[in-house]
Amino acid sequence: MNNRPIVIAHRGASGYLPEHSLPAKALAYAFGADYLEQDVVASRDDELVVLHDIYLDRVSNVAQKFPKRARSDGRFYVRDFDMAELRSLSVWERFRADGSAVYPNRFPVGEGSFRIHTLREELQFLRDINTSTGGGVGCYAEIKRPAWHRQQGVDIAPELLCILAEFGYSTRNDAAFVQCFDAEELVRIRVELKCELRLVQLIDDQNLPSANGLARLSASVDVIGPSISQLYQLRQGKVEPTSLAHDAQRFGLHIHPYTFRRDEIPSGFGDFDALLEYFVSELKVNGLFTDFADLVCQKLDQQR
Ligand code: CA
Repeated sequence: MNNRPIVIAHRGASGYLPEHSLPAKALAYAFGADYLEQDVVASRDDELVVLHDIYLDRVSNVAQKFPKRARSDGRFYVRDFDMAELRSLSVWERFRADGSAVYPNRFPVGEGSFRIHTLREELQFLRDINTSTGGGVGCYAEIKRPAWHRQQGVDIAPELLCILAEFGYSTRNDAAFVQCFDAEELVRIRVELKCELRLVQLIDDQNLPSANGLARLSASVDVIGPSISQLYQLRQGKVEPTSLAHDAQRFGLHIHPYTFRRDEIPSGFGDFDALLEYFVSELKVNGLFTDFADLVCQKLDQQR
């Protein structure tokens, strides 16, 4: 199939193994993902760490291991732990405040021996497995909460770009994307930090752009990453596109929606296959964030 969309392994093969663990990344690699996703936050000693949240308490045993280290809101922050402490934690499948699994049919909560690692370690892993397999899988890094991190005394973007450059990712032809929800930060990355990598504006219900907003975005970013629910609506039970995909395509923006999950099928779609079919064949998205890279790769292979 021409213009085959790219498969972005959302936090690794997170449908099967605890998110952002290196085994989850290795599994996604073996499934045939085109890009491995990294969410990037900062430790107390200013290391860039691959974790989805600024918090540790929904994906690790931090509350058991360091019970006195929560802030006044009861949460445990990555920023309050140095790298040696973070490495001593066990990474667990994501769970709720009451301890129950967010996705009950996934890897059992509290099981396994998985560890937190740095961005640099993940990029080394990716470089080395690309060497041993002859593959060319890329990285797809998200800067988490840049303004909050600056308040906490650390500026993630310049450091991230520096590490990416170390691994040979510095131009738009390199197999790397940088994503962020913060539009100002993306403009800063493009203009002030002179980044030439492909940039992705993530979109949720708080920052859904108008058509004019998309036109403005297209001056600094290459891709929008909306949630799948922002690209369609249900009318009398029937799925119809919203204007977002059409408007984005009009301004030359690619579309990489999140997140395709076998165990979280949105209403209006009979099954995972129908969901993929709609986004790939009808909306013609350019990439898919998925917890199940195996199933998405299989689907795209069938359509070749
Ligand atoms: Ca992310």
